[in-house]
Amino acid sequence: MTSGIYKRTEKHREANSQAKMRHIVSPEARAKIGETQKGRPKSEETKKRMSASRKGELNSSWKGGISSLNNRIRNSREYRLWRKAVFERDGHKCIWCGSVKNIEADHINRFSIFPELRFVVENGRTLCKLCHLTLRKL
Ligand SMILES: [Zn+2]
Repeated sequence: MTSGIYKRTEKHREANSQAKMRHIVSPEARAKIGETQKGRPKSEETKKRMSASRKGELNSSWKGGISSLNNRIRNSREYRLWRKAVFERDGHKCIWCGSVKNIEADHINRFSIFPELRFVVENGRTLCKLCHLTLRKL
């Protein structure tokens, strides 16, 4: 009994290390995995549910999550550094009216459409709140 378990463990360990070395799962181990899954009665249902919830996650991040994503970006260290760099380049004043009050960093190409330009200083410009609002109304 005890020796049987020991033998199985040894064999298992050996198969495991071999699989790790070759970066693949050995056929033996794969068969074992298959057996384990067969043993579970609701595995198919669980799999379906898992993929469904994963789809749901994708959908939510694609659709409704944009504003929270924007907030997360605005609070990020990268964003603060980007904004600082834009302000410094523009001399901490609105590039349109020259105001130094309520300045904001604006993305020339909207970062929701051009995520790769999100932290590119060349894609930023310093605008005061008023000019920024005017721009958004255009
Ligand atoms: Zn302005």
